[in-house]
Amino acid sequence: MSTPVLTAVAWPYANGPRHIGHVSGFGVPSDVFSRYMRMAGHRVLMVSGTDEHGTPISVQADKEGLTTRELADKYNRVIAEDLQGLGLSYDLFTRTTTGNHYKVVQELFQALWRNGYVAPKTQLGAISPSTGRTLPDRYIEGTCPICGYDGARGDQCDNCGNQLDPADLINPKSRINGETPKFVETEHLFLDLPAFTESLGSWLSTRTEWRPNVLKFSQNLLDDLRPRAITRDIDWGVPVPLDGWRDAPMKRFYVWFDAVIGYLSASVEWARRTGDADAWKEFWTPDAQGYYFMGKDNIVFHSLIWPSLLLGQNGAGDKGGEAGAFGTLNLPTEVVSSEFLTMSGSKFSTSRGTVIYVRDFLRDFGPDTLRYFISVAGPENQDTDFTWEEFVRRTNFELANEWGNLVNRSVSMAHKNVGAVPKPTAPTAEDIALLNQSKAAFAVVGDNLRRSRFKAAVGEAMRVVSAANKYLSDQEPWKRKDDPERRDTILHTALQVVSDANTLLTPFLPHAAQKVHEALGGTGVWSAQPRIDEVTDLDETERSYPILTGDYAGEQAKWESVDIEVGRPLEKPTPLFAKLDAALGDTGPEWAPIVT
Ligand SMILES: [Zn+2]
Repeated sequence: MSTPVLTAVAWPYANGPRHIGHVSGFGVPSDVFSRYMRMAGHRVLMVSGTDEHGTPISVQADKEGLTTRELADKYNRVIAEDLQGLGLSYDLFTRTTTGNHYKVVQELFQALWRNGYVAPKTQLGAISPSTGRTLPDRYIEGTCPICGYDGARGDQCDNCGNQLDPADLINPKSRINGETPKFVETEHLFLDLPAFTESLGSWLSTRTEWRPNVLKFSQNLLDDLRPRAITRDIDWGVPVPLDGWRDAPMKRFYVWFDAVIGYLSASVEWARRTGDADAWKEFWTPDAQGYYFMGKDNIVFHSLIWPSLLLGQNGAGDKGGEAGAFGTLNLPTEVVSSEFLTMSGSKFSTSRGTVIYVRDFLRDFGPDTLRYFISVAGPENQDTDFTWEEFVRRTNFELANEWGNLVNRSVSMAHKNVGAVPKPTAPTAEDIALLNQSKAAFAVVGDNLRRSRFKAAVGEAMRVVSAANKYLSDQEPWKRKDDPERRDTILHTALQVVSDANTLLTPFLPHAAQKVHEALGGTGVWSAQPRIDEVTDLDETERSYPILTGDYAGEQAKWESVDIEVGRPLEKPTPLFAKLDAALGDTGPEWAPIVT
């Protein structure tokens, strides 16, 4: 049964290169899931892009002596290249500074406005006197009015834990340049979140398949929803399409508001680029499924705020209303959130110098070792420390010794003795037991992948690999010179299980899977990889930018056991995974700027 599946991947922020903690949250899990769903016969649309508005982009641009647009261009490209290197199979990876995105954001806003879910309100806002820009709460520092701690931030005091309003801080200072912020009356638009409390509550009560922590966290916030500002005093963002706002140089949508709408705008852009401008709709109707992938710091935006925008657009909150230009849009089927990948117990942090950039990692170790580590030992259910020791151990013992060695010795022996896939005769109980185990794994691994239980899925696939290695050690085909029929039957069995295990591991190890496919004598594309296309903006034709896309449909790997073809010629295989120097486990590579 083929279902349209939207894979909505959190948008990496374009103020610098991304580290392996980022891609362990949104990147690898969403790609493993999407590759599996495609193999299982579903139509998948996997979209995202770089999130390029907001104050941190302006701050970083000032630091690098670039304009905001130049900075966004720079890191959009860096991030797109890194995600391509990791083999993340986006149908479209775009950005939030496209003409298409601006139009979709404004259109969706119009529906919220018409339906009465947005209202203006005047508040006290902090402005930087030298730039005129809004100073977000967390960029203001001062003395806590409650406990007297002198490093309190505008949004909260880390010493006493109280939520603060920046106007209450004693001696407030800008963390960007040290100046004293000016507090001025300013008008902003607010999303009426309380108007969605009831519809959100009844929708959440149907989300029984979610990870329990995500569901509970979201339900606990329901009673405390307050109106939330969707605009800022800033010149870098999507303009507000209302009279009196449209041309105001310092009024733009707040970055979170335009970024979550990116899932829809990227789907629309993808459709427009395919030549069928309505093609996005099948992935957004209530018959489709929508899976959202992110780190845990983003849950609230995907489980409450984005659903509120969708409900408001659909006219389905307390105030009713009519569906906007996009028709009735589907709410998330599941919000799949990862915990944090840490290093020495702390979050990866560029400011503290505890960071491993994706690019450095890919250059030295390739994509599949990282994909495997994140899948088997990543922060699926709890914060998890990355250690080089663990990475070396997993790579050497599981990928190289277990999987790589199984492929290598099975294909080598068949190549040496027969030169092709050997013909089996009279299978024994041991042969049949192993074949049954690998065939049965498809249902178990598939069910776990469908539910984003990646550790369980990869563990089950690797159990098949271990069983096949044990089988070869027990059956000793290398000692069967006098009984070539039995030897060939053993080798045929081993090669069949290599083929099955390769299919089971394809979502996790798509680059290695292509090599194994070829080592088994296969031709053509087994697991397609994303490519970068340089494209012209669909609405502002003087601009161009890189997108990630690919051809993932067609004759490729399917989620099924395929009988290997007797007599298919086999070449001498090359090793699948290089073993890492054990010393790396003690020190890490020299490039890693690790400071703890
Ligand atoms: Zn305090």
